[in-house]
Amino acid sequence: MTQIYFHEGDLPASVHFSGSVAVDTETMGLQMRRDRLCLVQLGDGKGNCHIVRFQKGRYDAPNLKALLADSSVLKIFQYARFDVAALSLYLGVSCAPVYCTKIASKIARTNAPSHSLKTLCEQLLGVELEKEQQCSDWGAETLSEEQLKYAANDVLYLHALKEKLDALLAREGRTTYAQSCFDFLPHVAELDLAGFDCETLFTH
Ligand code: MN
Repeated sequence: MTQIYFHEGDLPASVHFSGSVAVDTETMGLQMRRDRLCLVQLGDGKGNCHIVRFQKGRYDAPNLKALLADSSVLKIFQYARFDVAALSLYLGVSCAPVYCTKIASKIARTNAPSHSLKTLCEQLLGVELEKEQQCSDWGAETLSEEQLKYAANDVLYLHALKEKLDALLAREGRTTYAQSCFDFLPHVAELDLAGFDCETLFTH
């Protein structure tokens, strides 16, 4: 059973995650500096989702920042590169340690043509995701029931995906390759923010 909790501006101090937390962000668009951070969604892997909504320019969220920076809590993302950079840019927080289901899939499932959340949920969990709200207005004064449900969906399956992907990585002897990428990911996000082109940085 899915439970969605909505919070304005920060996570309440009473909310705790132990071990790991699934994280996603929603922004006004894909150009990070132009398109502000609107939502941070957090999932506990047991059906509970906490959604923190930010008003423009108000990113003072000490409880959320403490959680994201907590080295004892693994942050699980789908395409961590974008979210980790957005969290660094807007909240000023270095997210670590991180796990990225997209990278895990790219390393474990070299046979698969797609590594999108929709595909991973379908192929690994047999779950059909709806993507209709992806481009909706996350800065709206009032978020609709559908928007909140969509935002929650993006973190609800990440723990289950991680479990499946970890098993595949282990089976193929590729766990350390994936871990190296996860360890490097926060640095990639910083290089992105600093304006480096990581696609060409490692080529001749
Ligand atoms: Mn999302």
